[in-house]
Amino acid sequence: MSTATKRAGNGRPTSTATAEAAAVTAPPQPAISPVPFDHEELAVRRGDRSGLYCIVAIHSTALGPALGGLRMWHYPATIDAARDALRLASGMTYKAAAAGLDLGGGKGVICAPAGGLEGERRTAALLDFGDVVESLGGRYITAEDVGISPSDLITIGERTEHLTGLPPERGGSGDPSPFTAIGVEAAIRACVRSRYGTSDLTGRRVAVVGLGHVGGPLARRLAAAGCELVVSDIDARKHAVVSGLGAEWAAPDEALLVECDVLAPCALGGAITGDNAPRLHCDIVCGSANNQLADEALADVLAEHGVLYAPDFIANAGGLIHVYMEIKGYSEARAIALAEGIEATLADILELAAGRGVSPLAAARDAARERLDAALRN
Ligand code: NAD
Repeated sequence: MSTATKRAGNGRPTSTATAEAAAVTAPPQPAISPVPFDHEELAVRRGDRSGLYCIVAIHSTALGPALGGLRMWHYPATIDAARDALRLASGMTYKAAAAGLDLGGGKGVICAPAGGLEGERRTAALLDFGDVVESLGGRYITAEDVGISPSDLITIGERTEHLTGLPPERGGSGDPSPFTAIGVEAAIRACVRSRYGTSDLTGRRVAVVGLGHVGGPLARRLAAAGCELVVSDIDARKHAVVSGLGAEWAAPDEALLVECDVLAPCALGGAITGDNAPRLHCDIVCGSANNQLADEALADVLAEHGVLYAPDFIANAGGLIHVYMEIKGYSEARAIALAEGIEATLADILELAAGRGVSPLAAARDAARERLDAALRN
């Protein structure tokens, strides 16, 4: 599927990930459980130009082409990068299936050297990766992820058209983060309704931890909806992102444990650990971060402690919906409507979970699996 030249620019700002592109020092993930290998394909190739390993994991194409961003990162060993790609690819399958999108799950990785990848060798690695994507014939569509900027996507586009998320001036749909924020707010509304009987957010105390591309817009949306905000970031300069919102500032090490109705983890993965899960002072955990639980078994621990956990791959699907719309033919109004639809999607999952006596995470996985199984039968 050709996605690079789909439509004219829409004038919205592009991602500001360029400055982050050089930050390839240490993997962001916490210790993670082993990855079940039920993937369709794992391509590991050493690039002719760069000499660096380029990896694509395709978990499933049962519902459509496998879409997932490209991560440029330094890993201790290539096997660690492959493991990361496999884990992230299966996560994408579930995210797309649960969101009702006709997409499969995949992920790309370029194994960067310690200290980063710039200049000619960076270009060489991106072109090498583009060749791997092209060789997969459209079964995998790449996009931006950690360490990759919109301009990197343009370079990859010299070798393949199977990519999405280009800057608006290159015919893409631009930064998906504001749409992720719309989806997280919708998910919070579903949780609040389930917990308190109304989706009205007025007066709800919400802690937004991480004020980046998603957390910043989310905080502004929640303030506009009448929430009382507590915010935090390891970068104290991010306080400016919420200036004028009357938000209370919490130190990052205390922010996860503040007393609130909703805790919204919007920084890196693994925020909820075996140590802090029983000590949370919130009724609901619902944020944008991928892999919020350091271990999936913590979904049950949270449930035992009366905390409603919104599965992250449901709550943060707004960005994926946005790039999906780029593939299908972009309409901003439709992208917003679909991201807002996460409220109904999550409400169904919470109902399913309550009916089956399982955690929302288990119910979300079941719902996604049912959709995948039905697609495989047909
Ligand atoms: P970002 O890098 O723009 O922002 C992350 C913010 O978290 C930064 O301001 C950083 O300083 C802060 N931070 C890091 N560690 C922290 C800590 N321990 N405590 C407090 N703050 C901390 O990233 P983003 O694009 O806003 O994404 C946030 C999360 O949402 C990530 O986990 C990402 O994978 C996930 N996500 C993002 C999107 C999207 O559209 N951007 C889509 C789906 C999921």
